[in-house]
Formats: sequence, structure tokens, C-alpha cells
Amino acid sequence: MRQESSSNSLFAFQTLESNVRSYSRSFPVVFRKAAGAILEDENGREFIDFLSGSGVLNYGHNDSDLLNEAMRYLKSNGIIHGLDMATSAKREFMECFDAAILQPRGLTCKFQFPGPTGANAVEAALKLARKATGRHSIISFTNSFHGVSLGALAVTGNRYYRDAAGLPLAGAVFMPYDEYWGGDNDTSEYLDKVLADASSGVDLPAAIILETVQGEGGINPASKSWLQSIERLCRRNGILLIVDDIQAGCGRTGNFFSFDFADLSPDIIVLSKSLSGCGLPLSLLLLKPELDVWRPGEHNGTFRGNNLALVTGTAALRKYWTNEKLSKAVAEIGRILSECLRQVAQSSRNHSLSVRGRGMMLGLDCSTGELAEKIVRKAFEDGLVVERCGAEDQVIKFLPPLTIDRHTLRRGLDILESSVHAIV
Ligand code: PLP
Repeated sequence: MRQESSSNSLFAFQTLESNVRSYSRSFPVVFRKAAGAILEDENGREFIDFLSGSGVLNYGHNDSDLLNEAMRYLKSNGIIHGLDMATSAKREFMECFDAAILQPRGLTCKFQFPGPTGANAVEAALKLARKATGRHSIISFTNSFHGVSLGALAVTGNRYYRDAAGLPLAGAVFMPYDEYWGGDNDTSEYLDKVLADASSGVDLPAAIILETVQGEGGINPASKSWLQSIERLCRRNGILLIVDDIQAGCGRTGNFFSFDFADLSPDIIVLSKSLSGCGLPLSLLLLKPELDVWRPGEHNGTFRGNNLALVTGTAALRKYWTNEKLSKAVAEIGRILSECLRQVAQSSRNHSLSVRGRGMMLGLDCSTGELAEKIVRKAFEDGLVVERCGAEDQVIKFLPPLTIDRHTLRRGLDILESSVHAIV
């Protein structure tokens, strides 16, 4: 036993960790350190990271300015845990976020810090929408992903995750997302019709929850006109609009919020993943003040507002969101990335490969999960970390750090291109 363990660095994970582990199966090495867009394993082998913690590391691994802020705070005996007590770190974060993100957009919001995960924040958003409207149903969309706790799972489309719930998932109605039927069909018209029809069987919901680019569901970007139609029908029917910007937010599509391009004014915005800037868990709900119907402590959690994450989150806002530099870089790198992926798709022998997405959130649809898996596996063998998404895991998703340099981006794309050509 001991011999086997010393010859196989993954032995502890295979024998001690639950079967539920997933990424360590896709990338079967033991990672030790990381910087920027580079991950390094225990043998010193480097991998280019086009996964970025599934959208957590928009500013790359271990941004030195953010880490220095964290070190400074730790050395000063700053509050690490304070339940939801008032702390200097939280005040600084809220004031900085208000000045850098909300005020320039003319947004007035209250901040709610739920537990630290994305699912914690989605649960809070759904619960608040129900409490504020007195209605129970939530409309969600095909291919949506909002987390795997029961409330969030109820508004998540994927059957693989839903089947694991162990009890009926209640309180959600699914409608077709933008482009679900392809062609010229505007699926918002269908939703509009069933909401207007008192005999459609669809109850007036408390809220509609959506991602503007569906991440886990297969990198499906909604169009500006579709998003605006959804917002209009929310307003007409007194339905709250919740934008889950957990994966597409914090600059992933260019602007800080993924809905900026469509000029939406969501009632509740849900953020997590890249909010702390360096991988520390932190989630946030931004709510219109009139929705703040919570009674004190009614929705709580021991780890609300992780102070160290708030410190690095403030540093990230100051570094990246007080000027236009990062947004411009995302637009530029996003163009290069999508152009290269399109060339790869066109030059492959399988003409069913296609590219979609927005900003630096792009997907290469390989039609089948089997093909996507082969390409991803080959890419990993050659030093590129890239993962799959979509109903059948048929889409390879590209989420490189927004701060990636051109040379590393090119090296990653070269590996991808040679992997596609080797397999297809
Ligand atoms: N919402 C979206 C859009 C996500 O992409 C995710 C996770 O990938 C979640 C919610 C759930 O976040 P968490 O895994 O932190 O619970």
C-alpha cells in the first residue's frame, strides 16, 4: 500500500477523497503553485491555465498587488472573521464598490453579504424575491446553472445535477433561453405570451433569473435585444429581474457587469467568483433599496463577508476598475481569441465545430462530448488546462485570465490548435 502511494502522487486523492471530486479527474496531476496564467505541478511542469478556476481568477493566479494587500492586512492583525459586524474592511469595500462601479452607472443598491459561495448568494436572491413579492414561483431558463444547493438547483436546468437532489425540486418554471429554438424564433415572445395569458398555466413568478452568457450551460450568449425584451416584460408584469453575474461578471465579458452592454437595470445582481480578485471566497447581492425587506438576521450565515476577501476585493477594484484599461484589453484579447478559435474550427476536418461567446468567455462547440473530451485530454497532455461545459459536455470553454499576456495566450492557442488537428 505504502509503495503504491509513493509511486502515485494521486493515490491519496483516489483513496481518501470522495468520488464526487471532478477537476482532479480531468487534470490528473498534483498542482503546487501558480502565477498569472501559469499553473505548476509538483514535478515542476508548467501548464497554461485557460480555466481560471471556472471564472474565479479573472486577474490571474496570485496577483502580487492583491497578495501584498492581503499580507499587509494579516500582519496588521486586521479582522479575519467578524460575523457580519461592522469592520473597516467591509466599509472600505462598500465605499470603493459604490464609487467605482455603482455611481458611474447611476445605480443605487444595498449590499447584502451572504455566505461565501455563489450558491449561497443565489439562495439569498431567490428567497428575497419571494419575500418581497409574496409570490413563490421563479422563471429560469433552459441550460441555466445557478449552483447545487436545493434552491439554486431548482432553477438549474442540467439533469445530471438535478437528479442528485434526492427530492423534488420545487418552485421553478423553465422557459427557452435566447436562441434555444434557433432560427428567427424570439423566445422572449413566447414568455411574454404565456405571462399575458391568464389561462397558460404559468403562474406570475416572483422573479426571472438569468445569466447573460450561460457558462456551465455551454457558453450561450443572450443578445442585447432579447435581454431588453426580458427586462421589459419583467417591468410590465411586476416581476423582479435577477441577473446571476457570478461567472460572466467582474469583467469577463469586457465591462464590469455582463449586462452593461444591454443597459439593463436588474433588481438583484448576484456576484461571487472573481469578486475577491484572488480566489478567496466572497459573494455579494446588490439589491434595489426598495427590495430590502429583510428583518435583522432573518437570512444569515457564519461566514458572511469574508474580511480578507473584502480587502483583496477592494484592492482589485482600485487596480482594475478605476480606469478603462482592463475593459479595453478584454475587448482586444477577446477579439484575438475568438478569431483564433474560428480559424481552428474552420481549419479542422470536422465542419461541425463552431465558436460562440462574448468578451473573454468563449466556447468551441464540438457537437459531441466524446470529441470535446478527446481534445481537452490531448491539450492537457500538451500543457493546457481547459475544461468542458454544456448539456453533454460538448463545448470546450475558454476563460483565460483577463490579464494574460499575448505570448502566453498564443502558446495556449497553439496547443489547442495542434490538439484539435491531432484528434479531428
Ligand atoms: N451561478 C453561476 C452562473 C455559476 O457559474 C456558478 C458556478 O459555477 C454558480 C452560480 C454557483 O457558484 P458556487 O459553485 O460558488 O456555488
